[in-house]
Amino acid sequence: MDQDDCLFCGLLGDRGTAAWVSREPGAAAVALLPLPDSSLAPGHTLVLPAEHCVGVHDASPRALHAVADLVQRVARAMTNAFGADGVNVLNASGPASGQSVPHLHVHVVPRWPADGLDTWPTSLSQHEVRGDIRARLADTLSTPATPEHPTF
Ligand SMILES: [Zn+2]
Repeated sequence: MDQDDCLFCGLLGDRGTAAWVSREPGAAAVALLPLPDSSLAPGHTLVLPAEHCVGVHDASPRALHAVADLVQRVARAMTNAFGADGVNVLNASGPASGQSVPHLHVHVVPRWPADGLDTWPTSLSQHEVRGDIRARLADTLSTPATPEHPTF
């Protein structure tokens, strides 16, 4: 599915230029470099499904699996190509998450010892949820008639 107003669907449709890292014919996921001023580290790569979805909530199993597989391949390539000895895998899904482009994408950021980058959150959410949080989440997950993904 191609969304006319989607930046990444535009790139996938060859409307605009992208620094492709992986774009195999018929593949369900692709990888590209972010714009240079958005790069957190040398080799920082975005992995996204070829089909349009906004985030993890509405992604098809095929899209999610393809993205996960390519994230692993990119992480391994970062080790082999650059000697990276770690990666951070980051995603934002939904308007409250800080998502910048509403097409699912996963950031794979290579890491080296003492590279000066801190990708782990250093603040805590101030949002409150009442009741037994674990039970509410577990009950919702185990309910057979789980509703469709939320719409934002
Ligand atoms: Zn899209």
